[in-house]
Amino acid sequence: MKEGKKVILLVEDEYRIRKMIQEFLELNDFFVISAEDGGQALELFFANNRFVDLVILDLMLPVMDGNKVLKEIRQLSEVPTIILSAKNSVNDQVSGLNEGADDYMTKPFSLKLLKAHIDSLLRRTLTEESEVVVRGKLSLNERTREGFLDEKPLMLLPREFDLLLFFMKNEHIVFTRNSILNSVWGYMFNGDIRTVDTHVKQIRAKLTSKYPYIHSVYGVGYKFEVKDA
Ligand code: CA
Repeated sequence: MKEGKKVILLVEDEYRIRKMIQEFLELNDFFVISAEDGGQALELFFANNRFVDLVILDLMLPVMDGNKVLKEIRQLSEVPTIILSAKNSVNDQVSGLNEGADDYMTKPFSLKLLKAHIDSLLRRTLTEESEVVVRGKLSLNERTREGFLDEKPLMLLPREFDLLLFFMKNEHIVFTRNSILNSVWGYMFNGDIRTVDTHVKQIRAKLTSKYPYIHSVYGVGYKFEVKDA
């Protein structure tokens, strides 16, 4: 994924509108992934959810409607989402916002206003989230995706980074391999739970025996814990 550009998942079934928004956003330096129905939207989202910064979601869509798409996304992600729909009744807008949308815009719309809404939402969410997660001697920068162990660069593959970040954000919590798979790989992933073991093994090797932060919990799974020496 392009470094530095914000990534937007655009879900819109009308070709003309989709193209128009996509071209406009690209001109404004966003990286756009687009989907033309609800099923494709979920597939793309869960394949790229570590990178998507914002979702623009139409409601009336083939395969699966936008409300259902949003519900699925919200099971796993708080990604900022703007509903952009021709459904303009107060009730539609209220239910969209209640179901977890951050913003609701009605069609017809102005591209300039859409961009202002995107910028405002991104500003809010970027300042809310802390960029660097630190536990013990380990720190991960979510934005640059750099890792450091005892102040030295820690080289992690993308999934190793995701998994370690997940553990660090959920210190002391014991997870089963299945729940780790669902949270880190996404429920569309078809691999088996040994994938988790393989990745844990790789991360442990990189942390070295000096920093045994990932603990096996017999009969259950794993937890992350920094024990003070
Ligand atoms: Ca539509």
